[in-house]
Amino acid sequence: MQPFHYKALPIDVHFGVGKSAEAKDILWQQGYHKVLIITTPGQKEAGHKLAKQLQDICAGVYPHAVMHVPVAVADKAVAFVKDHDIDCCLALGGGSTIGLAKAIALKTQLPIVAIPTTYAGSEMTTIYGLTEDNLKTTGRDSHVLPKVVIYDPELNLTLPAQISACSGMNGMAHAVEALYAQDKNPIVSLMAIESIKALKSALPVIVKDLTNISARQKATYGAWLAGVCLGSVGMAIHHKICHTLGGAFNLPHAQAHAITLAYSVHYNRNADSEAMDRLAEALGVSSREEVGIAIYRLNESLGIELALKDIGLPTEGPAQVARIVCDSPYYNPREYHYDELKALLQKAYKGLPPV
Ligand code: NAD
Repeated sequence: MQPFHYKALPIDVHFGVGKSAEAKDILWQQGYHKVLIITTPGQKEAGHKLAKQLQDICAGVYPHAVMHVPVAVADKAVAFVKDHDIDCCLALGGGSTIGLAKAIALKTQLPIVAIPTTYAGSEMTTIYGLTEDNLKTTGRDSHVLPKVVIYDPELNLTLPAQISACSGMNGMAHAVEALYAQDKNPIVSLMAIESIKALKSALPVIVKDLTNISARQKATYGAWLAGVCLGSVGMAIHHKICHTLGGAFNLPHAQAHAITLAYSVHYNRNADSEAMDRLAEALGVSSREEVGIAIYRLNESLGIELALKDIGLPTEGPAQVARIVCDSPYYNPREYHYDELKALLQKAYKGLPPV
C-alpha cells in the first residue's frame, strides 16, 4: 500500500427524508438568529416556504443567485448582508446558490448552512468561484466551507429529469477522478466507489420516476460522498476539460461533465490500473477497456444529450480545448497527448462512443 495523508473536513451533516423540517432547531443550536435564505429566482418559492418554517430567526429570502457567481452579483449580496446584520447564510439550492453563499462568506466570513437540492457537491468543499469579464477564477478558502449541511432527498423531487441526470453524472465525475487523484487515499477511494455505485443504480430509476423517494435518497447519498471526494483530493484531466469547456466556451457545467466523463475515463483507462479495475467493477463491466463505453451507455440510458455540439461547442472547439488542456494541465495519472485528446474530443463533439 502506498503512503497517504487523509484529512477530514469539519462539516456537520444531517441526512434524511424530511430532514429540512429540522432546519430551525439545527440553526438555533448553532446560535444563528438572523438567517438569510439564498436561492435562485427559480427556487424563490421554496425559499419562502422554508422562511415560514424558520419564523423569527429568518431575516428574509434573497433570490438572486445565478450561474457562475458574477462579481457584481456577489458584491450586491455582500452589501445586503452587511446592511441587514445577517449572522448566517442558508443556501437552499444547487452549486450556483451555494456559490453565492460562498462568495459572501469569502468577504464577510459569515457562516454558511447549506441545504443542497442538486447533486453537484459544492457544499462539501472549500472551493469557491467568481466570474468577471467572462473569466471564472476559483480558489480555496476554509471560510467558504459550510458549517452544517442538511440533505433532504424530498427537496430533490422537483429537480427535472435532465438536470437530475446531468447533475448526478457531475457528482459521479468527482468520485471517478478521486480514484486516481494524485493525493488519493484509501478512505476517499472507498467513498468514491460507494458513490459511483449509488449514483449508477439511482439515476436510471429517477429519470423514469422523478418522485421515487428511495432512488432520490440513494442519489443524494451518492452525491454527498462525491462531494466529500471533491473536497478531499485533487481532480485531474476530466475536471480540466470541463473547466475549459465552461470557462472558454461557457458550456453548461453539469451537462459538460456528464458528456465528457466517458472520454476522460477512456483516455485514462490504463493509467492507474488499480483505480480503473475498481471503477470497472463499480460500473459492472469486466475490464477497464470498457469503462468509457459503460459511462457512455449509462448517459444514453438516462436520456442525456450526448454531443458537445448540441450544448454549444463550436466546430473548432475540440482542437482548442485539447490545446488549452495540454498547455496548462492539471495533474493526471497519464501524460497529455494533444492528438489523442483532440480525437477523443472530436468524438465527444459529435456524440460518438469513445471506442
Ligand atoms: P445550479 O445550481 O445552477 O442549478 C440548476 C438549475 O436547477 C437552477 O435553475 C436551479 O434553480 C434549479 N434547481 C436546483 N435545485 C432544484 C430543485 N430541487 N428543484 C427544481 N429546480 C432546482 O446547478 P448545479 O449544477 O447544482 O451547480 C452548478 C454550479 O456550481 C457551477 O457554477 C459550478 O461551477 C458550481 N460548482 C461548484 C463546486 C465547488 O466545489 N465550488 C462544485 C460543483 C459545482
